[in-house]
Amino acid sequence: MNAPVWNPAVEFMEREALERLQLANLRMTVAQALKTPFYQRRLAEVGLTGPEDLASLRDLHHLPYTTKDDLREAYPYGLLAVDREQAVRLHTSSGTTGMPTVIYHTRRDLDGWTELVARCIAATGATARDVFQNMTNYGLFTGGLGLHYGAERVGMLVIPASSGNTSRQIQLMKNFGVTVVHATPSYLLHLHSALAAEGVSLDQLRLQKAFIGAEPHSEQTRRKIEELFRIKAYNSYGLSEMNGPGVAFECLHQTGLHLWEDAYLLEIIDPRRLQPCAEEETGEIVLTTLQRQATPLLRYRTRDLSHLVSGHCPCGRSHRRLARIKGRSDDMLIINGVNLFPSQIEEVLMKTPEVSTNYLIQIEKRGAMDRLAVKTEIDARLFTGNPRALDDLRERISELLRSAILVKPVVELHEPGSLPVSEGKAKRVVDLRPAF
Ligand code: AMP
Ligand code: ZN
Repeated sequence: MNAPVWNPAVEFMEREALERLQLANLRMTVAQALKTPFYQRRLAEVGLTGPEDLASLRDLHHLPYTTKDDLREAYPYGLLAVDREQAVRLHTSSGTTGMPTVIYHTRRDLDGWTELVARCIAATGATARDVFQNMTNYGLFTGGLGLHYGAERVGMLVIPASSGNTSRQIQLMKNFGVTVVHATPSYLLHLHSALAAEGVSLDQLRLQKAFIGAEPHSEQTRRKIEELFRIKAYNSYGLSEMNGPGVAFECLHQTGLHLWEDAYLLEIIDPRRLQPCAEEETGEIVLTTLQRQATPLLRYRTRDLSHLVSGHCPCGRSHRRLARIKGRSDDMLIINGVNLFPSQIEEVLMKTPEVSTNYLIQIEKRGAMDRLAVKTEIDARLFTGNPRALDDLRERISELLRSAILVKPVVELHEPGSLPVSEGKAKRVVDLRPAF
């Protein structure tokens, strides 16, 4: 498998040279950060006066962490490190709690971001011969424009479909012989279930690849997408604070997500002790931008949980790989004292053949106890009027879940299309417990 490489000089750079480049870029980033009142204060607090205080990459741990709350406090202009006239675009992210954060880009920042996305796309083997339909939202959300410019740079024919309007998405795919799509995994599963109603069969499509990301999903979900569409699906990880897509992506080998280490300095820390994790131990991803002018961020705590994949990828790239994101440190659920991640539930559901493509986790308080309900759509053919068969299936899924998460949930079976669908990031968990 010899896939084209977008930037071989950087992607295959020896570790030592890569680390030298990182140190030089880190110093530049600190110098840039010192142009903002926010970091002047933060760096003064830790006694750092300038980039020359960083003798090696090991000095990184002297730098302060930056959190989403810091970004919110600095909103709107507190983290802008260039003259207003030099910034040519901004993206905001509202997250789930409403208060926005903002990231600015200079022309050079946008060019750097585009290059990173082009690298990701090329690493999956996609080329200018592909027709690419971008099914994520264009606008303040970074998934639309981020992939768009990267795909154009690779030379693909880009269809900026944006999100929603499933029927039009399917027609576009069919009419233009689309070979590559970008979407959230939950939306792709939904799109598959809408094919029949549109009267379109897989044979009428030319689809070969999907880039899936923006939300946590299990390996089982990826496989399900691959099997349903008979394609390859590549995991794409990014967050608006780090530009958006283009932070880490799977290559053809699908053995973890290469994180572009010339652009981002990676740490994985224990979120409680704020100390580095051991090799291969799961922890919170912390990233420092290494090439950004308008909004440099030092040691940004992403809240995303993952671990490093050890060894070398057969593709030969020197940039290390992150394992699939396990969830966010803030989306861990505690059910009657037992800790679990929604991704563990998804894993079980997606490897159960009767389960179709959509599910919802709901938690309520019943007296003193938490009640966990897992609502899942199943194959329409199973609603045959035989309640016994459904009871058996409900019990089987409930038992499978119990052995995976140590809590026995109430399982509800629903007909396809009856649970809410989201066009962007799926909302899989509804927690109705009163907040303390
Ligand atoms: P946003 O800044 O709105 O684009 O959201 C970024 C967040 O989406 C990340 O911090 C992750 O929590 C999540 N995310 C993005 N890509 C992935 C992925 N491939 N797998 C799991 N979670 C992801
Ligand atoms: Zn690789």
